[in-house]
Amino acid sequence: MTVLADLSLDVEQVRRDFPILARQVHGKPLVYLDNAATSQTPRQVIETLDHYYRHYNANIHRGLHTLADEATAAYEQAREIVRGFTGAADRREIVFTRGTTEAINLVVNSWGRNNLKPGDEVLISQLEHHSNIVPWQLLAEQVGFRIRMIPVDERGALDMAAYRSLFNERTRLVAVNHISNAFGTINPVKEMAAIAHDHGALILIDGAQAIPHEPVDVQAIDADFYAFSGHKVYGPTGVGALYGKAALLEAMPPWQGGGEMIKTVSFDAGTTYADIPHKFEAGTPPIANVIAMGRALEWVADIGIARIGAWEQQLLAHANERLAEVDGLRILGTAPRKAGVISFVVDGAHAQDIGLLIDQLGVAVRTGNHCAQPLLHHFGVDATCRASFAAYNTREEVDTFVEALQRVVAMVR
Ligand code: PLP
Repeated sequence: MTVLADLSLDVEQVRRDFPILARQVHGKPLVYLDNAATSQTPRQVIETLDHYYRHYNANIHRGLHTLADEATAAYEQAREIVRGFTGAADRREIVFTRGTTEAINLVVNSWGRNNLKPGDEVLISQLEHHSNIVPWQLLAEQVGFRIRMIPVDERGALDMAAYRSLFNERTRLVAVNHISNAFGTINPVKEMAAIAHDHGALILIDGAQAIPHEPVDVQAIDADFYAFSGHKVYGPTGVGALYGKAALLEAMPPWQGGGEMIKTVSFDAGTTYADIPHKFEAGTPPIANVIAMGRALEWVADIGIARIGAWEQQLLAHANERLAEVDGLRILGTAPRKAGVISFVVDGAHAQDIGLLIDQLGVAVRTGNHCAQPLLHHFGVDATCRASFAAYNTREEVDTFVEALQRVVAMVR
């Protein structure tokens, strides 16, 4: 007999963890649907930051006093939490960064700069956030390797036949997001990794939008690199992580120099570098934020990431149904596997106007190009409105959003 996991979520209980949800915007209860940009922060994470600064604020790894010891232990414990959450085998494979953007720049400037040669090829999907395009372009201008684009179909899903056909003996790396921030498309990253490896190429996965919504196992996916940000998964801003296979990280040179990342420094004999992951963590890291990001991942794990994902799928289905009532509304991105992200345009109503007016009704959605200009231009638009869900959103909020949208659209048309 198969026992189905209970994936029900007590959303009212979840909401009680988020002080910000009690606030009003323009005299209306806040309906926060901009989670793909940044998620809100539970009190457990806020308390972790508060506790750090009140009790054991100190620099790590180089002090012998009690506070330094405690801060170091908590910082390294956060590394262990990230390891467990991402399914990595070894905590040395987790490098703390300022976020996804810095994690990708690390790979580009360390692995890329040392491995890519003129004529080599890197495959980047059309679904990418600018942060997984521009760092590669910057390096390509200097090195002369070629960037080739993996196209999407009319639903905003990657064209897997085209993906396969792009490989040749010059292909060195694939850069792709796990979930698109602009459309919510869930990419078949495990299959993509297998195809890349069959061709002797590596795969870098931008997991900024997946870590908050899907169980992720970097070993099962066989990712070579996997990047994410704390602030999209209920943690603080200014912190994130890069997973990299130990053998790859060990072979890569540091990309930033400074304190913490060295073994010895000498003007005469040169400098030797610390072991991984410290080799990639130059300078004082965002210690409090790293520790609080660890707490955020524990908070997610306590609820259950599968439970959160299942709840968001319900919200997505409900929103899709209700949005069908809005005259002239078109959803961009209708891939069969989607996370809780809805990008849309409305005939006769500019996205910017919708965003501004709906804010007056207390509803926060994102408008613009979502740092995905190549994708939006392919679909013939400069901007969309985007609603994106998190664990604390409710069906009633979806209703409020759709009703507010109806009012706004009637006003601007
Ligand atoms: N990649 C994706 C898919 C994103 O959604 C984002 C943020 O919106 C980023 C990368 C960049 O993340 P950060 O600004 O936290 O570095």
